[in-house]
Amino acid sequence: MAETAKLCKSCAFFEAKAQECHRYAPKPATIDDQKKMRWPTTPPIGWCGDFQAKAVPAS
Ligand code: SF4
Repeated sequence: MAETAKLCKSCAFFEAKAQECHRYAPKPATIDDQKKMRWPTTPPIGWCGDFQAKAVPAS
C-alpha cells in the first residue's frame, strides 16, 4: 500500500473550512489595525514536520 502524502489536508490538525493549522493555540495578529487571535493559515497541499495523520474511523 502506498504511503499517504503527509500534507496538511491529511493532517489531524488541519481545519479544512478555514484552511487553518490548529496544531497550537491561536496567536495575536494585527488585521486591519485591530488586534485579533488567529491560527496560521495553510493551503491543503502545505506541509510541515509536525504532521500527524488523522485517526481512521472504526468500521
Ligand atoms: S502538516 Fe503541519 S502545518 Fe499542516 S496542518 Fe499539520 S501541523 Fe499544521
